[in-house]
Amino acid sequence: MPQSENKKWHWQLKNSIKTGEQLAKYINLTDKEKRDIKKVTETYKMSITPYYASLMDKNDSNCPLRRMVIPNIAELDSPPAIPDPNKEKSFEKATGLRQEFKEKCTILLTLMCPNYCRHCFRKYWVGRVNSVLTNRQIDEVVKKINSNKNIEEVCISGGDPLILSNDRIDYVLTKLKKIKHVDVVRLYTRTLVFLPQRITDNLIKVLKKYPTLYICTHFNHPKELTKESIAACRKIADNGIPIFNQSVLLKGVNDNSKTMKDLLWGLVKNKVKPLYLQHCIKTMGNDYLVTKIDVGQKIIKDLYCHMSVLGIPLYDVILYSGKVLMMPDYVKKDKNGRRFFTNLLEEKFYIDKLE
Ligand code: SF4
Repeated sequence: MPQSENKKWHWQLKNSIKTGEQLAKYINLTDKEKRDIKKVTETYKMSITPYYASLMDKNDSNCPLRRMVIPNIAELDSPPAIPDPNKEKSFEKATGLRQEFKEKCTILLTLMCPNYCRHCFRKYWVGRVNSVLTNRQIDEVVKKINSNKNIEEVCISGGDPLILSNDRIDYVLTKLKKIKHVDVVRLYTRTLVFLPQRITDNLIKVLKKYPTLYICTHFNHPKELTKESIAACRKIADNGIPIFNQSVLLKGVNDNSKTMKDLLWGLVKNKVKPLYLQHCIKTMGNDYLVTKIDVGQKIIKDLYCHMSVLGIPLYDVILYSGKVLMMPDYVKKDKNGRRFFTNLLEEKFYIDKLE
């Protein structure tokens, strides 16, 4: 077993940054910033891998990577309402199993992540308890899925499931593989972004055992596309496992067309298909990162003018009742009520002439 591969990602986790003083070894922080971190972490957890900290701008406090993972005093100003905006708890079928739709369910394998995102809609929950489903709990979850023939797709999420050992991932995938009515497994992870060292050859061997596995990752900014993260994406894709990305639209991070295009096309060039651009929904302490819906729709319109459709994601908002597409509406009405749309050259087309 290539011990050094394992050592690298375990080292990153063991040396995760948890305080302002530790972070100050990587970037320049003012005394106020250190005090703010201390104050916010009394309520919301911080964890940052040394790898991710090394990507931050040392001097710019508005660095988008800093904004995504360093506690911001504005978190304490946001109203503490909507702890569970998607009412996920109401879909709980067993410890760690949520079924939102007839055909799809989600296993929440762990509550831990390598880094804690300030915008996370599970902020009420992730990182608050260091919890991982036991094998017995996994068996119970699998039993429930096995007994419900409607379920076609299982999502494995958390927290970040790839923070767990290969054996634990293998245990779950092997069990799911035996369920005939489950066609597809989707595994959500941000390790590609925060901890690319996690994508080892041995992990790939485990993932490849499940024939219809999709990896869903979460890049938000082009600065996250580094030599290491690109190598991790390539390793997965080159082994025949499809990778999709969902970004979250965040104020002051990626809320403009140029940043979004650089990110999305950077992903496409590295075999990652942008699937969703999610509107950031308000949850505990994240108001300062939430944009207007108009911002997202304008970005999508701009992207259509300047990028191949391969890079265009669906703009959506997650609600507890399901995802709702928020794509821009191209259809307008003239003063006589006739419906028309315009193309990229601003040419007008009447809909009744196309039907
Ligand atoms: S990695 Fe995912 S689950 Fe973890 S804090 Fe970030 S958004 Fe939330």
